[in-house]
Amino acid sequence: MDFYKFMSWLFQKSGTINHYKKEIHSGTQPVRVIHHMILFMFQNTNKEFFKVLLEEIEKQKVNKELKLIHGEEPISVGNGTYRTPRINAETRTIELHETFLSYLWSCTYSIFILYVETVDFPRCNKENGRVTHPISKDNIESANLLFEYAKYLIVDFKDWDKEKLPNPEIYLAEKRDFIEQTNCFYTEAVKFILCHEFTHLTLHVGQINEATIDSHFLEFEMEADNNAIELMKKGILFNAHQLAIENGIIIGLLSMFFFSAKTEGIRHPNAEDRLTNALEKLELKNNPFAWGLACIGLKLWDEQFNHHFEWNDELSHRDLYYDIIMQIKSRNQE
Ligand SMILES: [Zn+2]
Repeated sequence: MDFYKFMSWLFQKSGTINHYKKEIHSGTQPVRVIHHMILFMFQNTNKEFFKVLLEEIEKQKVNKELKLIHGEEPISVGNGTYRTPRINAETRTIELHETFLSYLWSCTYSIFILYVETVDFPRCNKENGRVTHPISKDNIESANLLFEYAKYLIVDFKDWDKEKLPNPEIYLAEKRDFIEQTNCFYTEAVKFILCHEFTHLTLHVGQINEATIDSHFLEFEMEADNNAIELMKKGILFNAHQLAIENGIIIGLLSMFFFSAKTEGIRHPNAEDRLTNALEKLELKNNPFAWGLACIGLKLWDEQFNHHFEWNDELSHRDLYYDIIMQIKSRNQE
């Protein structure tokens, strides 16, 4: 095979880029073109991780197969259960459903683009005293439409309109930056989820039986988040893409919000507590975007469920974040 020809999309500046290749991509949804990357990224979470993973497979704590479930089905199964990532304690596999991955990619795109177009570009223009970063109404509209599609997938399935909506499979080279940057955050968000489930398999499955009380489940969830963050932080030096890792984790946790108006769970910690914990554990020394991204995610959730939080634009993104969290907490007590 001619390598240059095979990789020619890398250099393409105009026209349509189509990544789909029947021989190598499984699945029916546009995220299928990134499925192989997910596994590669997970195996390389950090320098030692692949070895650790093989040891856990050897000990039969983790199944060597990652179960990717195809099917044009909604995320909701009915009666409050969802096709979200999970472990199968008997087969020791991690299960991921393709529709959930479509949902996650769409949330990632929407949060990222809305952050760029409604927060970051306006800030640059203000600082420069003139329009150096033109704001695109079209981009904002596509991000909102894609977010509508993401929420639709929770309750019902319909095909992703690859002509009209941004997607990772087929897009114009002129629009490639937003798509490909979304891919970077998305693969890190999936990696976070996989590292979380990996922790359940290696540390928790053996401890769970019928007598396990709810507070233990809460502890397991936080431990799985914290271990996933640690595994990925160790990869920052190795991978040298700190921003993608940190923002991917934040977006992964934000994507949990859009399932319901309330953040409280019995066996899962509140979504806002998981998010705050991650933001604090990540330390975010060289990441000026993280708090703003978190605020955009919370704003989408506010609009989705008409919470009508008070958004004080005078505050820094970090202070605004904590202000909104306080409002969520006080509503929870009502
Ligand atoms: Zn969990």
